[in-house]
Amino acid sequence: IEETLVLVKPDGVARGLTGAILARIEAKGYALVDIRLVEPDRETLERHYAEHEGKPFYEPLLEFMMSGPSVAIRLAGNRVIEGFRSLAGTTDPTTAAPGTVRGDFGRDWGLKVQQNLVHGSDSPESAARELEIWFG
Ligand code: ATP
Repeated sequence: IEETLVLVKPDGVARGLTGAILARIEAKGYALVDIRLVEPDRETLERHYAEHEGKPFYEPLLEFMMSGPSVAIRLAGNRVIEGFRSLAGTTDPTTAAPGTVRGDFGRDWGLKVQQNLVHGSDSPESAARELEIWFG
């Protein structure tokens, strides 16, 4: 059984979509191993998004992630890393497929691609690294 880190980002929490997103996760059969409301500081986000340092969207992304609370979830399931990313949809909500979290709930807010409701680890290495950052 695999584990992944899921974040319901500040836009998801602020819009009251945490429950709807959790409902999809639970309906799929994934297990909530741990869950907490988090208000990450800059250092935590710099660690989490280290691979994006220097990219044009890096600073706006960190600012956005500090704009309000997120929900961090330690999620377990069979091939849950790949499965959750499929459930989340592609990065840009504008083009994410219907049936996915981003496709169904993501608003078309033009340039604000960072407001895409959720994060999910993209590999076993990322999952281990990110779970350590958010859950210790
Ligand atoms: P995540 O890692 O958050 O699950 P992802 O793997 O689909 O999403 P990445 O390419 O790892 O996307 O980018 C991380 C996050 O950075 C995205 O979720 C999004 O919030 C933001 N982001 C990515 N590309 C852009 C962009 N071109 N403009 C603004 N924000 C972006």
